[in-house]
Amino acid sequence: MIDTHCHLLHRGLAERVDDVVAEARAAGVRGLITIGTTSDDSVRGCDLARRFDDVWCTAGIHPLHAAEPIDWDAIRRTGTDQRCVAWGELGLDNHYPDPPRDLQRAVLEEQLRRIVAWRAEGLAKPVVVHCRRAVADLLPVLRASGLPADRFVFHCFTEGPDDARRVLDFGAWISFTGVVTFKGAPEVAEAARLVPDDRILCETDAPYLSPEPVRGERPCRPAFVMHTARFLAALRGSEFAAFERTVDANARRFFGLPASAGC
Ligand SMILES: [Zn+2]
Repeated sequence: MIDTHCHLLHRGLAERVDDVVAEARAAGVRGLITIGTTSDDSVRGCDLARRFDDVWCTAGIHPLHAAEPIDWDAIRRTGTDQRCVAWGELGLDNHYPDPPRDLQRAVLEEQLRRIVAWRAEGLAKPVVVHCRRAVADLLPVLRASGLPADRFVFHCFTEGPDDARRVLDFGAWISFTGVVTFKGAPEVAEAARLVPDDRILCETDAPYLSPEPVRGERPCRPAFVMHTARFLAALRGSEFAAFERTVDANARRFFGLPASAGC
């Protein structure tokens, strides 16, 4: 199994990264992608990824960090490293009032413009999208970027089946965290049933969002991706081993990971 989205440098994991990675390996996790949320977090995530054969990183500005200073050169430089497998996470978050929507959107549009330019320079990478209560606002912006729709993944999908259909019709991938296992979020489980086998990914978003049956544990850790994967397999009527092969092959294909990653 591959945890396609975690934050190894965020509080709760950063203090004990070696233990967290060892625990994940012991649980059967054979690949982790630590996701950048600011320029500094992206640079340090890449330094961290270089220390482990089975850790990769991304470079991007999370919408909730849109008001902080941004070093675009550092993002681009991180993107030139072999360990950096995607841009992002980037997107829109309508759940919180801050940073204001206009600012989130301006940073998103600038980031997409730069990604298009970097792609033209030969730095073509898939894009990890953060979208909270923002599918209708976000899809036109992604479409207007001109980037291929099948190079976007909507990570930590927390919307229902109607929004899932819109994202799938656009052509993007969808990734699920422990939220899909929550009894209070049946609409997310319903969305997870709709996603075709060749466009689904699985992740933790650790240190956030521990899945059932370890929902009470803090912090969430990449080892817990196994619980979410088992839940998704059962939900979709698949044998676990077959589902694991499917999502790992998807992760390798989407992020361009080596054949050694995953099951
Ligand atoms: Zn995240």
